Amino acid sequence: MVFENPKIKELLGKTRVLWALGHAQSVLAWDSETYMPRQGVVDRSMALAELAALQQRLLLREEVVKLVEELVDEEDLNDYEKGVVRVLNRRIRIMKALPPKLVMEMAKTTEEARPYWKEARDKNKFELFQPYLDKIIDLSRQAAEYIGYEEHPYDAALDYYEEGLRKRRVEEMFKYLEPRIRRILEKVLSEGRYPQTHELETVEYRKTDMERVNITILQNLGYPFDRGRLDVSAHPFTIGIGLDDVRITTRYEGKDFKRTLYSTIHEFGHALYDLQIDKALRATPIANGASLGIHESQSRFWENIVGRSRAFVEALYPILKDNLDFISGYSVEDLYYYFNTVKPSLIRVEADEVTYNLHILLRFKLEVKMIEGEYKATDVAEIWNEEMERLLGIRPKTYSEGVLQDIHWSMGSIGYFPTYTIGNLVSAQIYHYITKELEDFHGSISSMNFDVIREYLREKIHKWGATYPPAELLRRSFGEPMNPKYFIEYLEAKYLA
Ligand code: MG
Repeated sequence: MVFENPKIKELLGKTRVLWALGHAQSVLAWDSETYMPRQGVVDRSMALAELAALQQRLLLREEVVKLVEELVDEEDLNDYEKGVVRVLNRRIRIMKALPPKLVMEMAKTTEEARPYWKEARDKNKFELFQPYLDKIIDLSRQAAEYIGYEEHPYDAALDYYEEGLRKRRVEEMFKYLEPRIRRILEKVLSEGRYPQTHELETVEYRKTDMERVNITILQNLGYPFDRGRLDVSAHPFTIGIGLDDVRITTRYEGKDFKRTLYSTIHEFGHALYDLQIDKALRATPIANGASLGIHESQSRFWENIVGRSRAFVEALYPILKDNLDFISGYSVEDLYYYFNTVKPSLIRVEADEVTYNLHILLRFKLEVKMIEGEYKATDVAEIWNEEMERLLGIRPKTYSEGVLQDIHWSMGSIGYFPTYTIGNLVSAQIYHYITKELEDFHGSISSMNFDVIREYLREKIHKWGATYPPAELLRRSFGEPMNPKYFIEYLEAKYLA
């Protein structure tokens, strides 16, 4: 038995309703993005706001808080039990620290800001969003003060999304990455072996054809369709409703088929994580991923490290040829370079493996200054453009392709972006160890036999759920904390060798 301590059992009994509520919220959230009729949004957002408030009340019940407080100092707990206490204690600490008035105000502000952000982006009118961004910055600064931090207010924002992450650590990480990435990028661009664009980007496909491709690839990767679904949504996502119900979505834009293909593989990586969590953790507070960064490492591992490798492209080729009539005009080599174009671009979500983290660096720098109170919204719009030019040598002509491109700030998510870079770095770290520890990593990709790779990830990452905080999980599984050198090694081996 995983949970033996009687007090832990009591706590799990008392918090099971929270799990059930989360389960219901997930189904509603999934429905909102997939099948709900557009006008359903009014009732749905009211209902979700009520449920969020109910969740807070249920978590902060005195009987729950007291039990958790007692258990924090309990030494006679196994790792899973400690995990339960750690996760609940953290949630309680944050929820207690934030005054309900501030939470309500943030919810209200971001609710109002969303449509203005969208309109501002569509019309390239930053001034529509600016007052909301100022308000969001101000509320985030207040939240950081309430939550508390040791060194810097941005630490509170970071830690909220990635347990244990600190501004100082992210700075060190980028200090190492920036010059190396820029050097690699310069070389890749001057050598010209990896193209900046590819004619397949303009070729149109039939949606039904790409659906077949996506489903076939998911079957080959090992996505169990009796424990998940593939649907369509505006922004692809994964949602773990239960350990045996993990759903993904994709989108079909009608041309440039690599976009739907790789976003499907990306979401598969997220889904596999949840699907391989130990069933003994079912319906507990640790039946989910260790952190956003570790979750993203799984999606990036499958999307980039596996999905964009030569071995995978070779194995993929017959599936593409069977389903897309235009593929016969292209070789495996053509496809490999189509999937791996490298070019400085303005839009983060379209960025390649080499340039992606520079987009995150830019956002990180701006967020730190916003939280420090040094930058207001108006400053951010201009500095964005300058910084983009400095980092990638291109300058946005509009705010829509600059400061307005991401939804995150309009949702109040300041401190979230660095978790994307954590994901990229950890995926490369896993790659380093998996090629050392598995006999024939690339061979199993070539033969589309992913069992050993899935098992490796299950043992090292997935099965633990949120038992350990992210840094400890990495130390236990790989003997060291996150190390950015593996990402640079990966890029050099792939793009410069
Ligand atoms: Mg993701």
